[in-house]
Amino acid sequence: MTTDCLFCRIAAGEIPATVVRETDTTLAFRDIGPKAPVHILVIPKAHYADVATLAQDDPGLAGAVLATAAVVAETEGLLVDGFRLIFNTGEYGGQEVFHAHAHVLGGAPLGPMVAG
Ligand code: 5GP
Ligand code: ZN
Repeated sequence: MTTDCLFCRIAAGEIPATVVRETDTTLAFRDIGPKAPVHILVIPKAHYADVATLAQDDPGLAGAVLATAAVVAETEGLLVDGFRLIFNTGEYGGQEVFHAHAHVLGGAPLGPMVAG
């Protein structure tokens, strides 16, 4: 646990979040500043700085994050119309919180994949 990490603190229950799904190793909660009608973050409870580090160091846990994201997409009703799964990574990727997380976005057409 990295005590100064926001998402570690959410995983530890020290900072409140609207949790939509929890497994032994992952947590899914609503983004505080939603960019779409459905905007949920899925994190590994263990601290990894970004998805590349997570996938390299613990591919099984990376798969668990994907599996939780898929269940959340289903329970939020996103499977029929589709959704977007984003892992912002590093400076160019626009990552702001350096604890690996997937954004599950949906509920409306999401527009172009990247800003023009
Ligand atoms: P990033 O830019 O790192 O990919 O995404 C970080 C996300 O975390 C942003 O979408 C932001 O709205 C969200 N966020 C930042 N602080 C909090 C918080 O305290 N609670 C929740 N639920 N989301 C947060
Ligand atoms: Zn962390």
